[in-house]
Amino acid sequence: MADFDLVILGGGSGGYAAALRGAQLGLSVALIEKDKLGGTCLHRGCIPTKALLHAGEIADNSRHASEFGVNAQFISMDMVAVNAYKDGVVSKLHKGLQGLVKSRNITYVEGTGRLVSPNTVQVNGENYTGKNLILATGSYPRTLPGLEIDGTQIVTSEEAMAFTHVPKSVIVLGGGVIGCEFASVWNSFGAEVTIIEGLPRLVALEDESSSKLLERAFRKRKINFVTGVRFASAVKSPTGVTVTLEDGTTHTADVLLVAVGRGPVTAGIGYEEQGIAMDRGYITVDDKCRTNIPGIWAVGDIIPTLQLAHVGFAEGIMVAEEIAGLNPRPINYDGVPKVTYSEPEVASVGLSTAVAKERGYDVVELSYDLAGNGKANILKTSGSIKLVAQKDGPILGIHMVGSRVGELLAEAQLIFNWEAEASDVAQHIHAHPTLSEAMGEAHMALAGKPLHAHG
Ligand SMILES: Cc1cc2nc3c(=O)[nH]c(=O)nc-3n(C[C@H](O)[C@H](O)[C@H](O)COP(=O)(O)OP(=O)(O)OC[C@H]3O[C@@H](n4cnc5c(N)ncnc54)[C@H](O)[C@@H]3O)c2cc1C
Repeated sequence: MADFDLVILGGGSGGYAAALRGAQLGLSVALIEKDKLGGTCLHRGCIPTKALLHAGEIADNSRHASEFGVNAQFISMDMVAVNAYKDGVVSKLHKGLQGLVKSRNITYVEGTGRLVSPNTVQVNGENYTGKNLILATGSYPRTLPGLEIDGTQIVTSEEAMAFTHVPKSVIVLGGGVIGCEFASVWNSFGAEVTIIEGLPRLVALEDESSSKLLERAFRKRKINFVTGVRFASAVKSPTGVTVTLEDGTTHTADVLLVAVGRGPVTAGIGYEEQGIAMDRGYITVDDKCRTNIPGIWAVGDIIPTLQLAHVGFAEGIMVAEEIAGLNPRPINYDGVPKVTYSEPEVASVGLSTAVAKERGYDVVELSYDLAGNGKANILKTSGSIKLVAQKDGPILGIHMVGSRVGELLAEAQLIFNWEAEASDVAQHIHAHPTLSEAMGEAHMALAGKPLHAHG
């Protein structure tokens, strides 16, 4: 039996952030992980997919090199080398994280944990007791009824990111963030891609204008997509997978990627037995991530907040600080930045026009077309920055589409979270020529003093 101030089950983004912050604040911490420290984000999510997207960007750059006066040629993808590059990035970060956990004197326990009492997790027959427990067991890729993942022809993101070949054709079931990112990667790698999305538009959680711009860009890249029609069935044959939709149309490809969302890992590990309140498998928590059982907290993908690594980090840090008595502010989830790292990127913070109107704001909008931005022209990217604001009030949302616009979120989230008005931002000087100038120009235009804008 080992006693700690804090026992954490799950060493992904939420769990390890809580461990690092807890230890920094002087708490004795045990961190229990059955697989690899770093969890989904580091090993099966954010980092490996962004490495694949970067390899795709280089492939596209080589295809388009002559547009910039460079003699180069795209020949083919070497997926063994792509995977070696991707795995190298993951492995370096993994080693760094392991070193960090060790340096903070966190007790790292390898094994599958099970909640056996309101203050005890059992691992390999040993009990770890904590004054506080944080549950951070993360999520798994969901599938649909009748759609069996075989790992080769019908796959989830987990198998897709380790492919040693580029399929000739792929159907991506799900036009959300993960689906659009893989569609972008495979198109760059040379596969023929078709996305099937049951909702009326791609990246449906984003502002409608962003979906339109992404769809336009995907059309230009010859990424096929069908929206507003739901999946009915899939049949495998030795040569591929045929998907039938509810309207009777069929699509055939070598591979079917199922990207229909992720479910919480909360079953079979003692949560139900200890009476932890859940809703459709997600643990219900208050605004400080407390469960219904005193002393038990839950963070990351197992609670019904945005399934993003930086949300898990923020929740883990908040809980550690709350336990240490710092009384941190609850998280404002509207202020969380979101990026789809496809080409082009889709990035946003704050409210969409539709949500702002639903909440009763008197909304004004402004779209600044990247065509007026020097750096966007140099990069040959198109898109826009759209501002949603309260009339004569603060900025309520910023929605961007274009290459590299994810990097503009740092400023966008300060604007939103500091409740800045367009005139506050308009007076800041942005470096020329950068994409960030478009952020300045958009706010100048909304403040009534447009510079490089027509009309
Ligand atoms: C393809 C893909 C791309 C993504 N891209 C991004 C992105 O670009 N940006 C972004 O912000 N987010 C991204 N995400 C989401 C991000 O990965 C998750 O939101 C984040 O990893 C959630 O962190 P977590 O700590 O809740 O869970 P996880 O990272 O899933 O960690 C949970 C950990 O708990 C462990 N565990 C589970 N049960 C037990 C048990 N009983 N005993 C011991 N250990 C256990 C698991 O092994 C795992 O390591 C992506 C996800 C995917 C799948």
